[in-house]
Amino acid sequence: MGKSSKDKRDIFYRKAKEEGWRARSAYKLLQIDEAFDIFSGVEHAVDLCAAPGSWSQVLSRKLYLPALRAGNPSPPTIVAVDLQPMAPIEGVIQLQGDITSEATAKQVISHFHGQPADLVVCDGAPDVTGLHDLDEYVQAQLLLAALSIVCAVLRPGGTFVAKIFRGKDVALLYSQLKMLFPEVYVAKPKSSRNSSIEAFVVCRRFDPPPGLAGPGCALQALLAGAAEDYFLAAAAEAAAAAAAAGAGSWQAPGGGGGVPPLLARAVPFLSCGDLSGGDADRTYDLDPATYVRLEPVQPPTAPNYKTAIALAKGAGGGL
Ligand code: SAM
Repeated sequence: MGKSSKDKRDIFYRKAKEEGWRARSAYKLLQIDEAFDIFSGVEHAVDLCAAPGSWSQVLSRKLYLPALRAGNPSPPTIVAVDLQPMAPIEGVIQLQGDITSEATAKQVISHFHGQPADLVVCDGAPDVTGLHDLDEYVQAQLLLAALSIVCAVLRPGGTFVAKIFRGKDVALLYSQLKMLFPEVYVAKPKSSRNSSIEAFVVCRRFDPPPGLAGPGCALQALLAGAAEDYFLAAAAEAAAAAAAAGAGSWQAPGGGGGVPPLLARAVPFLSCGDLSGGDADRTYDLDPATYVRLEPVQPPTAPNYKTAIALAKGAGGGL
């Protein structure tokens, strides 16, 4: 594979290098912001699963650097967490840890000194196996771990943005999120490939039930209750659909009409990003007269492949 082939295949990969972003993912957050104005009024933010750091760069450029330039004596607090180490970013406090562990949640909270965050973002993704059900399940667990941190640090009224995989049980996630946020949207930025099942939930106006906010909250019980309701509704829906198969339309249990319960909980879907900004699924020709290939802005600090190479060498063979 030639060194320019990824530049050809991926316009956002190329643009990221030109504009100084560590990863093409920066455009996903920027396009979500274009559609939802998520940074307006934000002073304190958390970036979960942040490495290599392009979302943290967006937070730094949108929140920290403008405050610094304006001479704000107490610029925003931005805390970023990842399993992997990250190279420093101006105005971003970096933590290395697992967001599913309570210790990490406590560390994040400790940096806010009692001040709640206005925005929590989470672009977390497990190492994808290609087994869709498993990948979707692990992704959903990451999101639920992020929600524990949200309950501890987000102020009422705040915003949560997170990556999801739109698999067959995604409606369960929506109903769980709706227990905490009255406004839940699904966004698909143009910089996210159509071929990818990823999308992003944008959850607004955080409104936890009484007793839920703060460390040690009763979130798990609430989410388990939502899951039970969801699977009961799914079973009832399947039974109703089977019973109505001959009638041509869904009938509510008891014979009434209406919308099937799970569909009633569907969330608005928004495709976001400028159409002229490039197509993530297209391959672009590069003009050899003007094209200059750039190196990535920040090479990975501790990529997994280093371990693989070391293991292979240790076993006396190459990969
Ligand atoms: N938003 C990042 C950016 O713009 O540079 C990209 C994030 S990358 C798609 C997903 C990240 O999730 C990886 O860096 C991975 O280490 C992190 N991750 C996965 N599981 C995690 C966990 N349990 N705790 C912390 N980070 C995790």
